[in-house]
Parts: sequence; C-alpha cells; structure tokens
Amino acid sequence: MLYSKSFINTSREDPKVAECKSHKLLLKANFLYMVSSGIYSYLPLGWKVLTKINKIIKKQMDLAGAQELFMSAVQPIDIWEKTGRDKDLEEVMFRFKDRKDRNLCLGPTHEEEITEIVKRYINSYKQLPFILYQIQTKFRDEPRPRFGLMRSSEFIMKDAYSFDIDSQGLEINYQKMHQAYKVIFDQFKLNYVISEADPGAMGGSASHEFMVPAEIGEDILYFCSKCKKYYKKEGKCLSCQSETKPEKMVEIGHIFKLGTKYSKAQEAFVLDKDGKRKPLIMGCYGIGVSRILSAVAETNSDDKGLIWPKTIAPFDVTLLILDKEQTQEALSIESFLQAEGFSVLVDDRKDPAGVKFNDAYLIGNPYIMIIGKNYRKSKKVEVENRETGQKHEIAKDKIKDFFRDEYNTK
Ligand SMILES: [Zn+2]
Repeated sequence: MLYSKSFINTSREDPKVAECKSHKLLLKANFLYMVSSGIYSYLPLGWKVLTKINKIIKKQMDLAGAQELFMSAVQPIDIWEKTGRDKDLEEVMFRFKDRKDRNLCLGPTHEEEITEIVKRYINSYKQLPFILYQIQTKFRDEPRPRFGLMRSSEFIMKDAYSFDIDSQGLEINYQKMHQAYKVIFDQFKLNYVISEADPGAMGGSASHEFMVPAEIGEDILYFCSKCKKYYKKEGKCLSCQSETKPEKMVEIGHIFKLGTKYSKAQEAFVLDKDGKRKPLIMGCYGIGVSRILSAVAETNSDDKGLIWPKTIAPFDVTLLILDKEQTQEALSIESFLQAEGFSVLVDDRKDPAGVKFNDAYLIGNPYIMIIGKNYRKSKKVEVENRETGQKHEIAKDKIKDFFRDEYNTK
C-alpha cells in the first residue's frame, strides 16, 4: 500500500477531545473518527486491527466447536419483558417505536433473542449441547461515555451462548470457553488477569472476568505482590496474609454460568431422556472486541506513538523511502515481502524525513524499514524494531529471511 494513495490522515496536534492515552493516539494516528461523544467510526487503519482481532477470536471459537450466526440489532421489547430486564437495563437501553407502533430497542446484549431463537428449533436433549456466537455491534445509552472505545454508546462485542441439558454439560462448555479465552488473549500482548466475579445483572451462579491493569480502568482488584494474586475484595492475601493493594482494571472479557434464568423466564424447555420437560442450561461468554483495540493501544505505546503486537498490527512493516531514486527498489522489496505474506505500508510521500519518521512511530507497525541515500553504495536497508528500538542493517537479498525469522514463518 502506497501511503500517498492511502486514506491515512494523521494529525500533528494532540486532539482536544482526548480523554486518555489510547484515545489520543487512536485519534491522532487516524485509526478512529469521533462521530460524536461515545460514537466512533473505524477508519482503514483501525478496521485492519479490528479485522485481525476478529479473525483470532473466530479461529478459537470455531476450534472450540462454536457456530457463528448474526442476530438482529433491533429487538422487540416484549422478549425483554419476559425476563424483566427491560427494567434492569432501562437506563442504558435505546428504546423507540416504529411506524407500526411496535416497541423496539437497539440490542444492548442478546441473551433474550438467542433464547427465543433456540427454543423455536430445539425440543429434545438429543439436539444438545451446542454453542452459538456472533461478533456484532451493541448499543448502550451510556450516561458518561468516556475514554474512546473503553466506554462508548456503540461498540463491537463477541458474544457466545452455550446450551446444555445439565450442569455437567455447562461445566464442560464453560471450561472450553475459559481455555479458548486464554489462547485468544495471549495473542494481544495484554497483561491480563482472570478473576472470579459477581454475575450481577446477567444472573446465574458463577462468572469469571478477564481484566487488564490500566490507569483508566473502572474496576478494582486487590493485588498481593508476593504471590502475584488478584482478589476481588480488600482483605489480606488469602495465601500469605500480606496486605493487598488496589489496582485499576479494564474488563476485556466476561464469562457466565447463566443456568436457567433465561430458559425458565422464556419457557425454553426440552425433553430429557426420561421424557421430562427441563429448562435449558445456559452459559454466556463475552469479549469486548472494540475495547481490546483501546486496551492494546493504552498499554502498548510510548512517547512517540502506538506499538502494535505483530498479531494485530495494521501492517507488518512501514517502509520509508528517504531517497526518491530508490523508489523502484522499495517497490520491489514491497512486492517480494507481499508474496511472502507480509503487508507493507510504503511511505512514498514527498514530505521531509522527519514527518515520515513521526508518522511511522505514531502508527506503530512492528517494523520500520528505511531505504535512504546509503543504499546506493551499500545495497542495505535499515530495519528498526518498533518495540525494542533495535536496529539492523540488512542486505536486500537477506530481507526475506530476516522477516521469516522474526515471524517464525520458516
Ligand atoms: Zn500473598
């Protein structure tokens, strides 16, 4: 991709509306466009990152045997009245009537809708168990939208729902999702912790939260620095009795054993092997997809800009052309790297070197390659690792090997 032809429009100034580091960097580096407070559009760079996050999530959901669907964003209020959550979530629900006077809302979550779908088709234990999931936009009328995608009115979530005949089945699916979440979050370079949590408005018997320590977090966990353990409640460490310290946390995932709260209220029953009517046993499993974009930006950055992990960076390499005469060489490097499966943002703009370096650091692709005047004699490019700052001089015919090594794709 040539920078000169791209829709990347970074800003020199810090945006005035920015409320935290990630918000500032994502706006300044042009990953996000702020439509209005709490409402964002994902620009090409941001959408590339989100697409990669989604791909990682989808892969693990599919490996766990979950099946993808896509539910409606507009939902009738009457399904919410069955569980009473039209009242519980009243404050944050975007409600409206259509021209036929139907009471509708923009889905803040999808437990009620999935239960309606499943009960329409499932009537025997023989059709169980299964897990359904979607990656979709959700809406909450946040009283205080803040910190960009951390707390926004419109956001993208992955939500999965498991259906079983008994609690042993739920336990198996719950552990399956728990494992899948670890594999997923390990790929985002987030220093996450898992804590037992209160199921709250979702209901059910047990839940676990996946949390990332960050100054802008709105949840608090208590940390024992000796045992490296986090606790939900202040009180001395249960293992070593040392004092624990509060740490602010951002929630990126939450899994719940819902049990029969929804199936009973919505009459989602199936026949068990003795022919008795039993309510479905449910679990639900959420990941804040757009929030991960912000959480990674918040925790992986420096004074110069963003530092994306290789797994979700918009491009693998930013290639700066600092000598116009080397443009053809640069394009040939781009083309063989692309053939190897690496994506390259070629900065071919007429701007001064300083501007190009600033933008390369700000955007934060994992490698910055420089092809400058020295190349004429040396036939070597300089490659900088954005995260470590380590620099390498590499001959053109060794570039392929270097990236194969760095990405373990040999
Ligand atoms: Zn301890």
